[in-house]
Amino acid sequence: MKNFCICNMPTKTYENNKLPIFNSFAVNEVISKILGIKKFDCINLIHSYRQTNYLDKFLTQARELNLNLGKDLWIDSDNIENLKKTIKQLIADKKIVPREENVYVCECGIVEMVESAKNTRTPQNFYLDDGEPVCKYCNSKCTKVKRKILALNSKKLSFGDIKVFPTIYKKDIELKIKSILSNVLEVSKSRATVVKVEVDNQSFYVDNDIVWLCWIMSFGYKNVIITTSSHSLYHVALSYLLFRDKINLYYIVLPYYKNMITDVCKDINLSRYKILTWYNLDFKKKETTYNNQIINAINAFTLEQYDKCLEKTYLYPDLVGGVKGETENLFEYLSRMLRFGTNYFYMKNYLDKQNA
Ligand SMILES: [Zn+2]
Repeated sequence: MKNFCICNMPTKTYENNKLPIFNSFAVNEVISKILGIKKFDCINLIHSYRQTNYLDKFLTQARELNLNLGKDLWIDSDNIENLKKTIKQLIADKKIVPREENVYVCECGIVEMVESAKNTRTPQNFYLDDGEPVCKYCNSKCTKVKRKILALNSKKLSFGDIKVFPTIYKKDIELKIKSILSNVLEVSKSRATVVKVEVDNQSFYVDNDIVWLCWIMSFGYKNVIITTSSHSLYHVALSYLLFRDKINLYYIVLPYYKNMITDVCKDINLSRYKILTWYNLDFKKKETTYNNQIINAINAFTLEQYDKCLEKTYLYPDLVGGVKGETENLFEYLSRMLRFGTNYFYMKNYLDKQNA
């Protein structure tokens, strides 16, 4: 498959990374093997607040899970120049424009948003007191100031038929897209960020959350498959709006793991994590948990059975008698592969026949 790559929505690292954080890395490793395409394992270190860097801990954990990250690692903070180039292009394309707005700011600088956002945005850093925003971090009442900011220009953004698997998310994403287009979304900050740009002789700092979102443009591929979680649909909507006219985007939304108590993880043989994640995918659900039947079965594999299972997983088209889709639309092929290739009971059937 020419000019295709697969990547994950850049992942934040934590001191203790819960297992599901690694899910898209596991899934991408399997898909890149099946399709024979390049993968990028993307890490987000430049998010907006409380800068933390637990990369080493993250990578150590990934190794324990037998994930093959090393050579495909892409870290946003190592790619600032490239990201800046894309931001400049967005400005040149007038997708980002300067405009004068009333902006709420708090004393510590964490809250900084256009006036109209106080009622439309999910309050993350602020709460409303008597209808006025108050910063959750410094507890100061925000003051309103008129200033020039950079904002998305909805006139230059449009949407069409978004390619997302499973299709149950289509409506949710379209709602997010409509909400982005009907509100003012500021993309600049007054405090320093990693990218500073000049527009109309005025300099602006670009919000780090917009900077890392340009990650899909730094690979140089015309077709990019992106895996993400069902809790990141806002970023799906935003990346789609900004870049759909430049590259072909295909989204795979993984179900979100709920009730991730350590008891559940304790039962998982970590070296089998990759294959367990793949066969535990249940795309019919938006939220999921581990299926004990599948955990027990995969934990009980001998090493030989495990290797056979892995080998057959990578040869998905053989397993279901399909043909790798050269003439078929890629998205249809991908959807079929995710629907049937992740079915543990097909795999079990195959292995049982081998042992009979
Ligand atoms: Zn504050």
